[in-house]
This record gives sequence, C-alpha cells and structure tokens, in this order.
Amino acid sequence: MRLVLLGAPGSGKGTQAARLKEHLQVPHISTGDLLRAEVAAGTPLGKEAKDIMARGELVSDAILLGMLEDRFSRPDTANGFILDGYPRNLAQADALDKLLQRIGQPMDFALQLDVDNELLIERIAGRAKAEGRDDDNPESVRKRLKIYDELTAPVIEFYRQHGQLTVVDGVGSMDEVFNRIVEAIAPATEVG
Ligand code: ADP
Repeated sequence: MRLVLLGAPGSGKGTQAARLKEHLQVPHISTGDLLRAEVAAGTPLGKEAKDIMARGELVSDAILLGMLEDRFSRPDTANGFILDGYPRNLAQADALDKLLQRIGQPMDFALQLDVDNELLIERIAGRAKAEGRDDDNPESVRKRLKIYDELTAPVIEFYRQHGQLTVVDGVGSMDEVFNRIVEAIAPATEVG
C-alpha cells in the first residue's frame, strides 16, 4: 500500500503515520524526520537546511527530491510506504508523480487529515512545550501555516483531480482519528 498523508502542521500526520506503519507493515517516510536527521548528523545538506527549517520555510525542491529518490531505492519500500511531509507544493507533487510512475509504483491513496487552524495553533503550542522543536516558535508556526495555505492546499486539489483523495476528519482523540483512517483505507487492505 502506497499512501501519502496530507495535512497542515499539527494535523497529526506524524502521530497517525507511526500507528499506520504498524497496521500496514510498511515504512513511514517523513521528510521532516529525514531532514532533522541530516541536521543532527551535521551533513552538508543538514547545514544548508537547518536555518531554513527553523524559520519555517521550505527546503529546496531539488534537495527533497534527491532525498526521496534515495529513500525509495531502499528495499524496505517494495511493499509500499506511508509518505508524510511531502509533497508540499505543486512542483513536488508533480515530481513525485513522475518518480513513482518511473519506478512503476503509483500512489494508492492520498489521505488528508482535516483540522481547522485554531485547533492547529493550540496543538502546536502544546507540542512546543513538550518537545522543544526549533520551528515550533510562534513566528515560525505562523509562517508554516501560511505556506501550507498558499502552497500545500493546492496539492490536495491535485490529488482530488487524480481521483486519489480521501478526506478524514482529524478532530478527536488519536484513537478516533486512527479508526477513521483505517476505515477509509479498508477497501484496499482487505485480504482475499
Ligand atoms: P510540520 O508538518 O509539523 O511543519 P515537518 O516535520 O513535516 O513539520 O517539517 C519540518 C520542516 O522541514 C518544514 O517546515 C520544512 O522546513 C522542512 N521540510 C519538510 N518536508 C519538506 C518538503 N517536502 N519540502 C520542503 N521542505 C520540507
């Protein structure tokens, strides 16, 4: 099962992806996590990305695509994956579509976690206290939500037009949201 999770910062993509990964037995590929690992390891790529990320801006499309191509070439993606944090603009959506066509693994589902902005801000404020992420400061959060509305929302339209979009209500407990997701993808996961 090849699935992409769409949703604003704070919509719960990371949380749900971690659970879905167990459920589907496929790897969770988070571009945010991949980038944070590069930053932590102090690689040239990480050095380039660090400040951009802290400001809440987007790292270059070329870097992201290279990172993803690399990740998809690993054997653990043979049975699918859960992609989280990518695509974040139409150019990325297009590049991903072409990449997956080329390797003969088209996307099965684009799942949007729908949460309104006020709740998003509340959730990120809670996470900032608990995790202390560099980019969870108010200014960076505002920028990430603005970039999401301007650049990432059109990506949802892209998947809708390709007939791949499923919208899931992201408001509720983690269990409630997880159950909604499992139900939404059930037709494709039933065996026999
Ligand atoms: P969140 O969705 O909570 O904002 P992520 O962990 O997905 O956070 O990403 C954190 C940061 O990593 C982004 O704000 C951005 O700077 C960078 N990043 C992650 N994915 C991408 C991407 N697809 N394109 C460009 N930058 C990205």
